[in-house]
Amino acid sequence: MNVLILGSGGREHAFAWRMRSSKYLNNLFIAPGNAGTASLGTNVAISPTDFQALKSFSLGNDVDMIVVGPEDPLVQGIYDYFRNDEDVCHVAVIGPSQKGAQLEGSKDFAKEFMSRHNIPTARYKTIRLENIEEGNYFLESLQPPYVLKADGLAAGKGVLIIDDLNEAKRLLWEMLNGMFGSASDKVVIEEFLKGIECSVFVLTDGKSYKILPVAKDYKRIGEGDTGLNTGGMGAVSPVPFADAKFMEKVEQRIVLPTVNGIKAEKIDYKGFIFFGLINIDGEPKVIEYNVRMGDPETEVVLPLVKSDILDLFVSVATETLDTKTVEIDNRYAVTVMMVSGGYPGSYEKGKTISGIEQIKDSIVFHAGTTLKNDEPVTSGGRVLAVTSYGHTMNEALENSYKNIEKISFENSYFRKDIGFDLR
Ligand code: ATP
Repeated sequence: MNVLILGSGGREHAFAWRMRSSKYLNNLFIAPGNAGTASLGTNVAISPTDFQALKSFSLGNDVDMIVVGPEDPLVQGIYDYFRNDEDVCHVAVIGPSQKGAQLEGSKDFAKEFMSRHNIPTARYKTIRLENIEEGNYFLESLQPPYVLKADGLAAGKGVLIIDDLNEAKRLLWEMLNGMFGSASDKVVIEEFLKGIECSVFVLTDGKSYKILPVAKDYKRIGEGDTGLNTGGMGAVSPVPFADAKFMEKVEQRIVLPTVNGIKAEKIDYKGFIFFGLINIDGEPKVIEYNVRMGDPETEVVLPLVKSDILDLFVSVATETLDTKTVEIDNRYAVTVMMVSGGYPGSYEKGKTISGIEQIKDSIVFHAGTTLKNDEPVTSGGRVLAVTSYGHTMNEALENSYKNIEKISFENSYFRKDIGFDLR
């Protein structure tokens, strides 16, 4: 099969790496890809949201399947675009329809879906400018801190957590008056949940599903989870506190009702569901849905999936996932992100990266890299993810930390405490 992966991060490099071991793979393309994906397939200079260009490319290169990494093309309707065009409806798109993508694209839609299907989540109210007074009353009824969420996509910045009630009211007004453009025309106000977060990933064909290894990511730039939020500074899988008892609750109360809800509402969904969960004294609740894999979680989850990924994707496309079993590696996988100094604020690009070739017992997934004179240079905030296996989490972490020291570029930074809270 000829496969086109959309995206340019560590997640997409991990997809390309896993796909390379599939016996069904013929040609592999990545649009736009990075320096890492260039060694596994052909990078193509097309934006993941330029559907027309993706259609022409797919026709010209006999693409059989498109695997969508990021959320934007899904929320903009890439699944429906291909499905409804008779020239390219034979191309399988791994991802939900535009309706399904609303689970990530609209927080109000996701919360309504959860209340329709009795899925445990934080109490909430959705507010528009017309009913801001109702929003203020609702805030007064809650205990601090206050959680305000822009309804639409806001590049991971649309959630505000505020300690002071008056400040929360002021920011509610700001959000409803364009703080995040049209993404905050509606704001979801939520009760604050206190617990420990983890991410559960499910592959579904819209009828049946497979639960993949659970991961925990580390969002803050600073050690001890301090400082600004980032795209993710590292991840571990599996997660010790997500034991069999907890996962049974997750499956019965959250995964099953979600997939049944998708089916009952006739939502066409052939891809990943990412459940952002919070564990409150052993009880799981949903913080958010995403409709694609996470980054950097993919860099630990896919290395633990031993089954042929393309075989699984074909069964998703043909709605025969129930006939498959997913074989999981019983080791731990961890990843540590190397970032450009200054990130998530401003940082310089174009720094020469050296030392990757010395690494034998970790996998180096490229994120913000590009090729300059055939050598990798930095091109983004998050540059590389160094993934390792271990029979214990400690062993995996030691491998990643030993190897990350061998890589260098000017002003690099990484957190030295990934996974430490779980040991
Ligand atoms: P991202 O896509 O970057 O994960 P997002 O913008 O889609 O984020 P959410 O995941 O809903 O937004 O929220 C971001 C973070 O805010 C969560 O990972 C969690 O740490 C925190 N958060 C969100 N809702 C709550 C809540 N009700 N109680 C406590 N913390 C919350």
